[in-house]
Amino acid sequence: METPESWPCAVCDKPSQPRVHRGCEDRMRANLEALPGLYRQLESALYPGRRGGDGRSATRTAPLPCSLDAVDLRARGGIEGVVGGWARDLCEREQWTVPEYRSVEAVIDWGTKTLLVNLPMICDEHPAVKEIAHELQSTVAQAQRLITGDRPPRRIPVACPCGQTLRITLDTAGVRCPGCSEQYGHTEALSLPLAERRAAA
Ligand SMILES: [Zn+2]
Ligand SMILES: [Zn+2]
Repeated sequence: METPESWPCAVCDKPSQPRVHRGCEDRMRANLEALPGLYRQLESALYPGRRGGDGRSATRTAPLPCSLDAVDLRARGGIEGVVGGWARDLCEREQWTVPEYRSVEAVIDWGTKTLLVNLPMICDEHPAVKEIAHELQSTVAQAQRLITGDRPPRRIPVACPCGQTLRITLDTAGVRCPGCSEQYGHTEALSLPLAERRAAA
């Protein structure tokens, strides 16, 4: 049997026959579908433990440090910036009209819908599909972390060209490879290909 032609997936760089793996496309779709709901749920993450009147009451339930992040994700340029930005980019690329929305929520609904409807095309030909996929993934992860509390960030195994597997988080500030001492910044670390998961023999 002939081996079917394959090339690196435009999202994860692992060999793939389509330009983007079905699984990678599915993950983008799931993230897009999740974002409008996460945006609304962040409302409650904004005001954790809002019970006492003066804020000095003894109820020390939820810690507060997350709330600023929630504000950022809900503000213009947060989730709105990610999905609205990429949807606008797509419209300009295709010479479609960009609607004028006033509210952040309306932009998010429009942006996610536009990206969802055009996801197959984005995976087939968009030059920045990898950046789109990574931004969706990290935005969803950040929002979920804020909503669910202090779950430790998921660690993702990525492969350094030297063969070493590095375990990074989506909000990593940077990492140094213990194998070859290469220093990676945030963007470079997230651009490394996913490490092959070793199947238990
Ligand atoms: Zn892939
Ligand atoms: Zn290395």
